[in-house]
This record gives sequence, structure tokens and C-alpha cells, in this order.
Amino acid sequence: MIERLAVIGVGLIGGSLARALRAADAVGEVIGCGRSLENLKLALELGVIDDYVLEPGDAVADADMVFIAVPLGAIAGVFAKIKGRLPARAVVTDGGSVKGSVVSDARRVFGGNVPSWLVPGHPIAGTERSGVGSSFPDLYQNRRVILTPVPETDPGAVARVRAMWEQVGSEVTEMSVEHHDEVLAATSHLPHMLAFGLVDALARMRSNDEIFRYAAGGFRDFTRIASSSPEMWRDICLANAEALSGMLSRFGDEMNELSNTIRSADADALLSIFERARAARERYV
Ligand code: NAD
Repeated sequence: MIERLAVIGVGLIGGSLARALRAADAVGEVIGCGRSLENLKLALELGVIDDYVLEPGDAVADADMVFIAVPLGAIAGVFAKIKGRLPARAVVTDGGSVKGSVVSDARRVFGGNVPSWLVPGHPIAGTERSGVGSSFPDLYQNRRVILTPVPETDPGAVARVRAMWEQVGSEVTEMSVEHHDEVLAATSHLPHMLAFGLVDALARMRSNDEIFRYAAGGFRDFTRIASSSPEMWRDICLANAEALSGMLSRFGDEMNELSNTIRSADADALLSIFERARAARERYV
């Protein structure tokens, strides 16, 4: 049982964890903290949090569990503000979509070592919507959470974070920071680039009104994630630049191959690309 949870960034991810822990009766009190007073007031009204403060240092001062769920570009600033303010029993975890940047921010802010109480994490769950109004208690049910402890991380802290996620119905796995960022570049970050890139390319065409008017279900399904938060995705791209640009260039090669195959009217080659892709999707998705 968590006695006092501090959620820094009470949006979709932070708000949903607070709601889920409440629904599971696994938390005593929830303190919210964020940059937007309006959002924090809404979180209070919705019963997601019991109280709020505006300074991260004040939010964590009496917490036994801290969840940081702000955009990646804001994490270093939060670390700097909680530095020296945590009680000895507190464990801190985060929900950032890239783990290398969180670990290097921690090394920079905390002076070389990642603190033993910090357990970098990433729930593989979400929607294209943002803000506490979009949060819901079942978001993490039957979803995976990846924890990426580093050699300095206290195993006891990992166990407490694991227990928290299991209480809200998630399956917790552990992997290295580097492996996490490569895997997520392929499975999440690349598809988001394709959706943003496709919609942007069409939006910049001259007759885009007509193009969008005739867009059907496939287009809608494929591009749903292009409605995701631009700020969050800017930060993810900057934080995972190397792995993501590598994936984009591999994908560019695939598109060139497809384009050449179409141009040369190679029916057999087209069939085999689509059959290979369909079989892979049916096996894994
Ligand atoms: P969100 O926009 O819904 O919520 C972010 C919250 O952080 C907002 O309430 C915002 O006001 C607050 N915030 C922003 N800057 C702040 C700062 N400097 N100090 C304090 N609060 C600040 O976003 P989200 O979807 O909940 O994403 C939060 C984190 O979770 C991001 O790091 C993202 O990479 C990660 N994540 C998102 C998803 C997803 O699908 N949305 C999935 C997994 C992980």
C-alpha cells in the first residue's frame, strides 16, 4: 500500500495511474503537481488527486512514492526541483517514453550517479489524447510496463515500483535502457513518425481539402496517432534521435524498394512483400 503518492504531471499517464491505484484501493493520498493550475483544479474536481501544490519539491516532501509523468524535455527540471527534498523512504519512477535521456538527465542533475531510489520506467499504454480529462482507471489493465533499472538502482526500489504496476493490472518486464530505446523506436516512435509524416505531406498538397474529404476508414485508422501531443512527440524525437533516425532511414529504404517495384510493374515481387507483411502482422499483432 502506498501511503502518499506524488504525481508530477497529472495528465493522461499520471492521472490514469492515480485513478487506477485508487480503484485498486492501493493508495492513501494523492498529491498532484503540474505547471497548469487549470488542469490541477480539474484533477481535483474529478477526484483524481486529493490536493495539489505547484512546486515539485513540495509535492515530494512527504511522499513514499513519486511518479513523474511530464514531457521528456521537462524531466531534468523536475529532477533539479526534487533534489534534496525527498524523504529517505521515497521511491521515484517515471513514465517517459525514452529511457536513455531520463538516465542521462539523472546523472547530470544528481552529480554523476543515478540515485538508487530512481527506477526508470515506461508503461506501454496510452491514447492519442492528453490531459487529466482523458485519463481513465483501466488504461494499464493487461498492458506491459517496462522498467529499465541501471547498476546503481536499489533492487528494493524496483520491487516496490513493480508491485505498484502489478496492482493496476500491468505485466512488468525489465530490460536495459539501450534495448528499450531501440525496441520502442521501432514499435512506437517510427509508426508515430509515419502517421505525422503522412498527414503533413497530404496537408501540404494544394488540393488537401478534397483529399481529406475522401479519406476513408483505412486513413482514419492509420492516422489516429497523428492527433497525439506535438510537444510530447517533439521531446521523444529529440530524446531518441539516434535510434529513431536509424529506423526512419531503414523505412525510407523499404519505401524506395516498394516504389521501384511498383514502377517496374513487378507483380510477383509486390505480392511477396505484401504476403510477408501480412503474415508477420497476423503472427505478432
Ligand atoms: P499529458 O500532456 O497528458 O500530461 C503531461 C502533464 O505534464 C500535463 O498535465 C502538463 O501540464 C504537465 N507538465 C508539463 N510540463 C511540466 C513541468 N515542467 N512541470 C510540471 N508539470 C508539467 O501527457 P501524457 O500523455 O500524460 O505524457 C506524459 C509522459 O508520459 C511523457 O513523458 C510521455 O512520453 C509519456 N508517455 C505517454 C504515453 C501516451 O500515449 N500519451 C504513453 C507512454 C508514456
